[in-house]
Amino acid sequence: MALDFDFSSPVEAITLPLFAAHQVKVFVKRDDLIHPFISGNKWRKLKPILNLAEAENKKTLVTFGGAWSNHLLATACAGAKFGFQTHGFVRGESVQNPVLSLCRLYGMELHFVDRSAYRDKQRLFDAHFSLDDAVYIHEGGYGKLAASGCAEIIEELPQVYDHIFVASGTGTTAAGLASAVLAKQWPTQIHAVPVLKGGSFLKDDIRALAITPDDIVFHLEYHFGGYAKHNAELICFIRDFVRDTGMMIEPTYTGKAFYALTDLVKRGYFNAGTEILLIHTGGLTGFLGMYEQF
Ligand SMILES: *Cc1c(COP(=O)(O)O)cnc(C)c1O
Repeated sequence: MALDFDFSSPVEAITLPLFAAHQVKVFVKRDDLIHPFISGNKWRKLKPILNLAEAENKKTLVTFGGAWSNHLLATACAGAKFGFQTHGFVRGESVQNPVLSLCRLYGMELHFVDRSAYRDKQRLFDAHFSLDDAVYIHEGGYGKLAASGCAEIIEELPQVYDHIFVASGTGTTAAGLASAVLAKQWPTQIHAVPVLKGGSFLKDDIRALAITPDDIVFHLEYHFGGYAKHNAELICFIRDFVRDTGMMIEPTYTGKAFYALTDLVKRGYFNAGTEILLIHTGGLTGFLGMYEQF
């Protein structure tokens, strides 16, 4: 069993009248096209983890997430694809939703745990599994090894961009991008759009991945009230964007990052001639939880 999977994804230009008016060029790295359920950046993060698991002859993947977690689904699907058993600890009381159904369909065993038990993840792992044959994967795929997988996004780019924008949950993807850009000595500025409220905690998490947070510009004002929160303005933006471009985005991650970039363009943040890349991190199943809005 080799983890041979073509990770590369295309870069597409998006032409909207707003971008033309401000003379900026905007491109999207379509990591959403890598796989329908192994959501773009979750796959980037899992790849090095699964390669190591395979090298160490481990058979089981154990991870953690909320009931709508893209990471749980990506782990379930990748486990099925590459022959690992998968277990997911789900925060909160037992519920049923389309994402968890897909996790089960791919063979993941789900363990619902209350919020206080969920806090001590190491204890949950130790009670059921051993590192001899199981891999502990952090919630959201956070980690140094995972960040190294995200650096591959930079390797695939056809040109150097002035700015790169990404939605941030754990900050792992932004950290991987920043380290890759530094290693290549590109003049590119990495921008993170935290989707959680009070996203400055990300700076500590990113520092723990051995990346200096000063290498990343954080835009803390586009969380729309917090994780998975949204308002009519965001929904309206997403609807227009999808209709105008034919490219799907959703309200939890990519909608917020793409909104942030658009808002900054409107405010004249970029000089004429600037070339900007948005990372489409996937996660389109997030839409399944909010379909009533559309
Ligand atoms: C998980 C996720 C993110 C956040 O990535 P981090 O590396 O945790 O910052 C961004 N976009 C989508 C679609 C995701 O599913």
